[in-house]
Amino acid sequence: MSIIEPVDLSRPQCRDRSWTHRAIELLQGDRRRSADTHLLNPVFKGLKGLSVYLKDESSHPTGSLKHRLAHSLFLYGICNGYIREGTTVVEASSGSTAVSEAYFAQLLGLPFIAVMPRTTSRAKIEAIERFGGTCHFVEKPGEVYEAAERLARETGGHYLDQFTNAERATDWRGNNNIAESIFSQMECEPHPVPDWIVMSPGTGGTSATIGRYIRYRNLPTRLCVADVEHSAFYDAYVSGDMSVTCPTPSRIEGVGRPRVEPSFMPGVIDHMLRIPDAASIAAAHVLSERLFRRVGGSTGTNFYGLCQLAAGMIKEGREGSLVTLICDSGDRYASTYFDEDWLRSNEIDIAPYRERIERFLDSGEFV
Ligand SMILES: *Cc1c(COP(=O)(O)O)cnc(C)c1O
Repeated sequence: MSIIEPVDLSRPQCRDRSWTHRAIELLQGDRRRSADTHLLNPVFKGLKGLSVYLKDESSHPTGSLKHRLAHSLFLYGICNGYIREGTTVVEASSGSTAVSEAYFAQLLGLPFIAVMPRTTSRAKIEAIERFGGTCHFVEKPGEVYEAAERLARETGGHYLDQFTNAERATDWRGNNNIAESIFSQMECEPHPVPDWIVMSPGTGGTSATIGRYIRYRNLPTRLCVADVEHSAFYDAYVSGDMSVTCPTPSRIEGVGRPRVEPSFMPGVIDHMLRIPDAASIAAAHVLSERLFRRVGGSTGTNFYGLCQLAAGMIKEGREGSLVTLICDSGDRYASTYFDEDWLRSNEIDIAPYRERIERFLDSGEFV
């Protein structure tokens, strides 16, 4: 006959619930202290009948849209019990994600290692180190995944794995995700439901969140994903073959990947474009001048893609609104995209694109 053996409630087997409790409070506190990011509405006199909106993700405390992702990945790791008191947190990153994750690791008192390509900008490396993170460099962008996995194994730590988890760590139905925020900020506009939202893919996570939300809310908005010159996503989307790779590293930081990342969800994308790097950088220059502050290269990719869609709408005589993102600030790229010598040594001539973009914004003519 078995007896009921009382559990010794003073000694639970899992001892770190109090750390978890405090960690969630710290993450909630960060969110509570933050305001929503602005949805800018610059006026371009050539674009009659069209409204353009830019969701300014550069204004997060860590300077990019990766602040949202890092918050979500830590929350996901903690709520799944993968991240506990003292867990070493490891990530494979081309830079921006690691900056934001280093910030949250410091907030939570966790050791953080970023695995990055050696070509990552000095400014990002300094930011990671300022937040107490350690940088581990690899020679080729394609080597980051394995190195991060190995470091996590060796330290008994947790690999955040943004490229796999970006699409699932974010609450795609709402909970103040970026899509819900955009649509609610648009509510009082002349064309409150955008015809197009444009986004460039890095993990593919932001595009996945927006595309899913559009379908979930039954909205007519279409999602256009604007890829860059050296990246696997565009060819994979067009051919349907998700195993395609691109050995040449992307020159637009934050976007373009050597492989199709698991967080890239082709089924929620309505259209894809491939933007030449010179056009992305030219668009970043033009937009920076029009906004009186510098935006990053991927924002240029977004904006050039938006201009192409706007040109298509003008051609069809349609009115409406288009939305894209300012992914990060151009201040991080003073010695690259905004440096004449860098452009020359990379054989990037932005002048012809620049002229075309300016003429389009001022006259509506696209040539
Ligand atoms: C990550 C990133 C993107 C792409 O966002 P995903 O959600 O990862 O696809 C665009 N621009 C910058 C600067 C980024 O860091």
